[in-house]
Formats: sequence, structure tokens, C-alpha cells
Amino acid sequence: MTARMPIDLVNLSDGEFKEFVGKFDVFFCDCDGVLWSFRTPFPGGCESINALKTIGKRVYLVTNNSQTNREEMLQKCEKIGYKISIDDILTSTYVAAHYLKQTGFDKTLYVIGPEQLGKDLDEVGIKHIGIGPDVIEGGLYEHILKRYKLDEDVGAVMISFDRHFSYIKLCKAVNYLKNENIKYYATNADNCFDMPQFNFLLPEVGCFIKAIEAATKRTPEILSKPTTHICNVIAEDAPPFDPSRALVIGDTLSSDMAFGKNAGYATLFVETGVSKMEEIKEIVEKINTGDEDEELKKLVPDYCVSSLDEFYKKFSKIF
Ligand SMILES: [Mg+2]
Repeated sequence: MTARMPIDLVNLSDGEFKEFVGKFDVFFCDCDGVLWSFRTPFPGGCESINALKTIGKRVYLVTNNSQTNREEMLQKCEKIGYKISIDDILTSTYVAAHYLKQTGFDKTLYVIGPEQLGKDLDEVGIKHIGIGPDVIEGGLYEHILKRYKLDEDVGAVMISFDRHFSYIKLCKAVNYLKNENIKYYATNADNCFDMPQFNFLLPEVGCFIKAIEAATKRTPEILSKPTTHICNVIAEDAPPFDPSRALVIGDTLSSDMAFGKNAGYATLFVETGVSKMEEIKEIVEKINTGDEDEELKKLVPDYCVSSLDEFYKKFSKIF
């Protein structure tokens, strides 16, 4: 097994760049670290997406961030100037809700997650409990004896970002999951959300997953990138497309680039977020010195560009 470094779009001639864009009909663009960082839009992000749409490309904004839903994302995008519709946005909460609908889930879902996930579940008619604050009143044992109750109709636990994450929620999730017939899902499994502007790391869903795993030894089925459930959700209400003519644009090797490879799409790495070119170099070296791990190869992008600003500079010269 060998690997090569990604092709840097900046080194392509105008003709080669035009050919590159012409290879793809559908673009899946990650958001945090590619289009913006928290509330700060990156130069060239909005311009690139609008320009691709103007020349007739289908563009989806795909985020693992479970703190937002499609309506909120659309509002944010419209404020910045994106010319997109709600159907162009795929959040991990939306994908999770549609996955359950597609699999015919008809029991109650115990959710550790945000209000936004509740709305997405309501829209597809999935019964759910658990959203909102759940705190211990009085002593722990007194609370457990008097108020703690497991719902017998619960058929699955779903974990997502929850600003109300609490000890009693952890107790409930662990005790539901003691039963191996109860399924276990996560909207996403990101460990941290980095807010460099504030020098602050926000612990994410991955931390809750580890807490539950410590007690149950169970790990959830993850429904967002790098898994390909998103593809089935799109297939539900959009025209089919040739996977070899789709491109994933992202900043994180383990989620965006791996998602692209899992789905059979090409990948473009943008160096404005989580992963760095140095990591790609190390992975390529590892593969070329005999590491046979197939998962490692999925992390190596086909193409790279330092930022969407660079991408747009090149694009606007030609189109
Ligand atoms: Mg990202």
C-alpha cells in the first residue's frame, strides 16, 4: 500500500483547475474550520459556495455540530450572505432524526441532547424523553428512590451535545444501556469544540460518551461524519448522483476526509481548522514505510488548499 501527498490546487494551471471543478457535480462542505470559526466567517467561504452554486453545482453544508439545527444554520448563513436553502443544510441532529425514521424506530428514545434535536425528532414523529434540565433534588439516594424512574417503552438511547448534562442523566443512560436490547446512538462523537478566539475548549459529545462507556463498556453507533448515514438521508428526497462526481471539502482528517472515502467521494482538505498539513505528511510517510492500516489511508486527502479564500481567488479568475 502506498500513498501520495494531496494535489495542491494552488499549483494547478488555470486549465487544470477548470478541469478539477468540472469533475464534480455535488459538493459537501463542512462548516466549522472551513467556512467560519465559531461566529467569525472566513474570507472566501461564502463567495466560494455562492460561486459553485452559480455555475450549477449542487452544494450541501454538512456539520457534525449538534448545538445547532437547520433553521438556525440557515439564519446564520443568510446573515453572512450565503445563497442557500434549508435543503442544502445537513446537521447531525437532522441526520440522526431521519436515520431513526428510516429504520422504522417506533419506541421511545431517551435523549441526552439539545432542544434542537428534540425539534428534529418531533418533525419526523419520533417519541422522545429526556431533553431539558434533569437535576437531583435533595440527597442522591432520596432522589433515586423517590423520583428516578426508567420508562419501559424506551427502545434506544441517543447521546448528543447537552448543556444540561447531569449526574442523573448519566444514571439514566447507564441504566437503560444495561439492557443490551436497548440500542445506542450518538449524533456525533467530537471530543472538543475549539474556540481559539477565547482560548477556550468546549468539551463535546465525545466526553459524555466516555463517561457512559466507563460504566457500561458500550459505545454508540455514530450517525454523522465519518459514517455515511448522511448519504441515505440525502437519497430520501434529492435526485441521485454519481458518487465519483462528488467532493467533500473539510478541515478534519478523521471526520471529513474519512467520510469522503467511506462514501466513495473525492476529498479536498482546507488548512483553516483542526488538522494540519504536517499530520498528512506523517500519515503518508507511515503508509509508505509499511503501515497497512486501511483506516489510515482514508485520512489522506486527494486535494488540498490553504483556505477557501485561495480557492475562490483561483475560481474567480476562471469562471
Ligand atoms: Mg470542521
